[in-house]
Amino acid sequence: MSDNNDFDVIIVGLGPVGAMLANLLGRLHLKVLVLEKNKEVHPSPRAIHFDGEVMRIFQNAGLDGKIRKIARPTHKGMHFIGANNKTLLVRKGVKGIGDQGWENNWYFFQPDLERELRFGLQQYPNVTVRLGEEVVYVANSGLQIQVKTMSECNENKSHYMGNWLVGCDGAKSLVSKNVSTDVEDLGLDEKWLVIDLKIREGSKRAANLADYTIQHCKPERPMTQCYISPLRRRWEIMVFPDDHTDEMIQEQFIWFILNPWLGPEDAVIERAQIYTFHSILKRQWKNGRIVLAGDSAHQSPPFLGQGLCAGLRDVSALAWRLSLVVEGRASSRTINSYEHERKSHVRKFIELAISCGEIIKSGNSSLITNYFKHDHKEEKAVFDFPKPQLGSGDWIFGDPPLGQICPQFVDSDHSLSDNYALYQFILFLNLKLKRKLCEKSLKIIQDWDIIVVEAAEAAKTWLHSIGSSAALVRPDRYLYGVAKNPQEVFLVLSHFQRSMNEV
Ligand SMILES: Cc1cc2nc3c(=O)[nH]c(=O)nc-3n(C[C@H](O)[C@H](O)[C@H](O)COP(=O)(O)OP(=O)(O)OC[C@H]3O[C@@H](n4cnc5c(N)ncnc54)[C@H](O)[C@@H]3O)c2cc1C
Repeated sequence: MSDNNDFDVIIVGLGPVGAMLANLLGRLHLKVLVLEKNKEVHPSPRAIHFDGEVMRIFQNAGLDGKIRKIARPTHKGMHFIGANNKTLLVRKGVKGIGDQGWENNWYFFQPDLERELRFGLQQYPNVTVRLGEEVVYVANSGLQIQVKTMSECNENKSHYMGNWLVGCDGAKSLVSKNVSTDVEDLGLDEKWLVIDLKIREGSKRAANLADYTIQHCKPERPMTQCYISPLRRRWEIMVFPDDHTDEMIQEQFIWFILNPWLGPEDAVIERAQIYTFHSILKRQWKNGRIVLAGDSAHQSPPFLGQGLCAGLRDVSALAWRLSLVVEGRASSRTINSYEHERKSHVRKFIELAISCGEIIKSGNSSLITNYFKHDHKEEKAVFDFPKPQLGSGDWIFGDPPLGQICPQFVDSDHSLSDNYALYQFILFLNLKLKRKLCEKSLKIIQDWDIIVVEAAEAAKTWLHSIGSSAALVRPDRYLYGVAKNPQEVFLVLSHFQRSMNEV
């Protein structure tokens, strides 16, 4: 690009989703501009949990080493407790390494995570970050996007041009107004008080609290009790219509309601804030060359701790597509399939979060049988995060497990299979099959920079379990295609090539 103010991709918003997208695009050598209206990382934590698939996204961005230092893995699940302290439901924990190659659940302090994501950007000279610049105008003019910003003093105005623009500008997104104002409301719209506490050193009461999340499913006052780290705890408390919200954020109310667990001698209130939880999906995520990701595209109530996870999955599904389109290797139609695939995937998580909310509010275990399986061995209802198939993109070449997240293979020496080719296409093959690939397959593999990896023990076992000898895995680690023989490998690869080029 000739002009310094011209970019391949402009990202609006350097929250966690925008920062993650910038890291992935930086890795893919695109010329990227990130515009963020605030100068500092948002001081108030919102998200506290991410899952194993998200840790794998950090790994593919080369950030796992840093993120591990600021996040706490846990194998303990989330417990829904009803009247008489009866356990109604458990979101399972998984001991040890899960199928994503990482522990399945992690807790963290959001400002620490955002700082690490920003720090990660320093390694990319191709990524420019402008803090303190608020985007005030976006125009979609066919082949280019025009952006105007204003800095804090309201005097300095800047203009930028981009090939593509991604709105990662959160729930009150300005960018989404340039896409569509049409919203699908899945029905949950509630006020909750969120209290973050810093534990005082030596507090015995704090040390004796549960070291996992508890959903107190009590209609008289539904609430969530979270264990973030030995230093931090959170309570989320439902606000009723006749509550006085200005009183609820005062110390007097907070210590009154937390009295069964903690008092001022045990902890300091870091913040108390009323949030309105929503459950919405924007009907359209793309208009011309403007695309949405994260909270600008969807919002989930936080009962599952999955809203940010969905945003990070969005950008993992988007970055490799943008790179191929900007390089002129794939048609812009692949960005349409991003919207189709992700929308139905995130919907499953929002619906499940709403169901969890209904149980927390009602304490009604009969609701549970409608939503969750009863595990007779464990004598309670249990569930785990779903692994939905992606919505109908033209990317999927068959039935599940195609279009689902592929496991990460961990071998006896603890090596992780994604490390063969971080955030690239990988074709896993049994050795015999590798030797028999036809010339045409080899040409597609070379043209599209697909990394061929001979399946080691764990990958071989998995391929065998799904009756295959080869698997094409996308950079976002969703399974594109499987094959039993060299002819089928060619079919998968040629379908892949065609779908990239379709206009
Ligand atoms: C109480 C609570 C608890 C939660 N817990 C969890 C959890 O445990 N796990 C989980 O996965 N999710 C959780 N979530 C959801 C999660 O916090 C959000 O999904 C996530 O923060 C969204 O990230 P984002 O980057 O899309 O948006 P944001 O974090 O809102 O970032 C948007 C960025 O865009 C910037 N911006 C906005 N407009 C402009 C503009 N015009 N110009 C320039 N910059 C702009 C903003 O300053 C901001 O930095 C929780 C949410 C809440 C409210």
